[in-house]
Amino acid sequence: MSDAEIKAELIAVGTVNIDRSLLGDITIPTAGPGAGKTAFFFRWNAHRVRLAVDEGAKLKAVADNGDVVIFKGPKVLVRGHIEEELIHCPEQAYITISEQCIFDCKYCPVPKLSGKIKSLDEIVRMVEEAYSKGNLKAISITSGVAGSAEEEVERAVEAVKALRKYSLPIGVSVYPTADSNLKLKEAGVVEIKYNVETMDREIFKRVCPGMDHDFIIVKLKEAVGLFGRNFVFSNFIIGLGESDETVEAGLEELASILDQAKEGDRIFMTAFGSGAGSDAFSITVTDKIEDIQSGAPKVQELLADPIYLNYASYAKHKGKIRV
Ligand code: SF4
Repeated sequence: MSDAEIKAELIAVGTVNIDRSLLGDITIPTAGPGAGKTAFFFRWNAHRVRLAVDEGAKLKAVADNGDVVIFKGPKVLVRGHIEEELIHCPEQAYITISEQCIFDCKYCPVPKLSGKIKSLDEIVRMVEEAYSKGNLKAISITSGVAGSAEEEVERAVEAVKALRKYSLPIGVSVYPTADSNLKLKEAGVVEIKYNVETMDREIFKRVCPGMDHDFIIVKLKEAVGLFGRNFVFSNFIIGLGESDETVEAGLEELASILDQAKEGDRIFMTAFGSGAGSDAFSITVTDKIEDIQSGAPKVQELLADPIYLNYASYAKHKGKIRV
């Protein structure tokens, strides 16, 4: 089994039966579908997954020679180790400001948990404690919507301003508002995430009442112009009843946001993977965009008839392996 297949299997199952004494220092998430549940980060090679603890799970993890081994039935699925968390994440301070929400996404426990709203002092104290451990590499701020989306953006802006002193990259994930992109960018945020929850609009209406899918997409598009390519993210949940076609179309729609750039947008482009180390470009979109936008294949066209390569074929294709 390849690492990618193992990762897919672990994510698909999502839960592991593990002796809690093996977990060490872990934190209980206060946001997202896993809020309130015990979970841990498992790492092997360059891969990391978050797994929830469940005594009835079909995967079982045991300690073995300093490693943690996950079994599927009698067979070893993977051998790795549990990563220590700083705040909800290895090497990161991942902080939820408001642990409550006026929305009621049907899969989300946050509205039912009705947690607290962290003060600015408390947030700074938490980050200071994580920073003092010496391996803090990034700060992530997220929030439910306690009163209004605008108030949450203000809370996030204040938190980011107070945390800039650590000179660490700060990412924010909130429900967008009319000016959230601009305000968060000006505050010093480098990475933004607005969750679309699902790309099936009909399911969205049923499971995320009161939220505006079109508005989230508009704000994601706007964010690409401001924060740049690879600095804008979204999550969506698989398994709400959507079809595979909807998932594929949704991924294409999100990936093709760059094709839809408009005059005045700012686009930052940089390569990673096999292009890593090459120059990056900061582009301001001008009124010529419409003349040239159809000069190259669009993401949808490229994905219409894909040829999938395994790594060996890819390496040969790129001249890394000569035969
Ligand atoms: S917006 Fe939806 S998913 Fe996010 S915290 Fe509120 S209820 Fe949960």
